[in-house]
Amino acid sequence: MKYKLMTPGPTQVRENVRMARSLECTNPDLDEEFVEFYKETCEQISRLLHTKNEAYILDGEGILGLEAACASLTEPGDEVLVLDNGIYGKGFGDFVTMYGGRVTYYESPYDEALSADDLREYLKEHHNFKYATLVHCDTPSGMLNPVEELSCLLHEYGIMTVVDSVSAMFGEPLDVDRGQIDIVCGGSQKALSAPPGLTFVTVSKKAMEAMENRKTPIASFYANILAFKGYYEQKWFPYTMPISDIYGLRQALDNVEGDKDIYERHAKLARLVRDTVTGYGLKLYGKNGYSNTVTVFYVPDGFTAEEILHTFREKYHIMIAGSFDVFAGKLLRIGHMGENANEADVRETLAALKEILDSHKN
Ligand SMILES: *Cc1c(COP(=O)(O)O)cnc(C)c1O
Repeated sequence: MKYKLMTPGPTQVRENVRMARSLECTNPDLDEEFVEFYKETCEQISRLLHTKNEAYILDGEGILGLEAACASLTEPGDEVLVLDNGIYGKGFGDFVTMYGGRVTYYESPYDEALSADDLREYLKEHHNFKYATLVHCDTPSGMLNPVEELSCLLHEYGIMTVVDSVSAMFGEPLDVDRGQIDIVCGGSQKALSAPPGLTFVTVSKKAMEAMENRKTPIASFYANILAFKGYYEQKWFPYTMPISDIYGLRQALDNVEGDKDIYERHAKLARLVRDTVTGYGLKLYGKNGYSNTVTVFYVPDGFTAEEILHTFREKYHIMIAGSFDVFAGKLLRIGHMGENANEADVRETLAALKEILDSHKN
């Protein structure tokens, strides 16, 4: 392999996941054993996310989950609250608008985690929303939001919640039922460490009922969560399932489930990265809310982001990431989630960073 991936997704993929993807294929439309396998895999997702809500695996990468949640819940004219303290946070507004919803952006500084106290104050005056969107870890800035607490608050006002935890789940603890989260979106290629290509959602009874009781049909086929309802009873999927991708996903879920200190390890390595990077004199992005899945810091003085990324790739065969949108060229990111979260690779990455920084000091 050419590069060691230390990016905040896609992440390294373990050999047993790659092997699982090469297993012999059946016809997933006709083989009832596959329907059982799919169901068990969905139940495993629900179990790992601590929810009684049903999960569905959809054939498309992480973004499809976000779009499917918005497409399935939004009816033209619906009022939707978009919690915006990052690029993905704000981006939800585009999906809501696309399906005819009316967006209210709750804007909050990008360099601070959303504050439950501030949201509580805001909701006293403004709570006429069908649902709200939130991001767990806003990956371009590495900002971690207290989504369980925020979602509980919204729930008190009868506002359903859609949470993008694509780059947090399985690296940061998430208890969906404790947070009373109606729809959680995840992806295969972040802390779960399967290749990109799959998304999955857990859906509460309330959200399912909202989809069933719509006055207008869901304006999408591929992004229609309701199309999966009753698949098990009917032994029927809305489209042919990507069987090899799901075999890989299942192995990746088994890897997570068998990893008893997964959250402690993410926390420990994230602390190591933050302490080391600041010890090198670099500045972390943000005043608080550092996610244990990714560390984000400013491009050091005297360097460009491209120069550092290039040296990492060409001299050390390690891939770290820059950032994008309003952060393009300003921030660098080390992804230490999933299979990347091992001490040897983290230390190797930090040592390379040190050498690159020292190379300019003469
Ligand atoms: C990665 C990611 C997604 C999925 O988008 P990609 O196009 O696969 O990068 C969605 N939300 C967040 C917060 C992510 O980090």
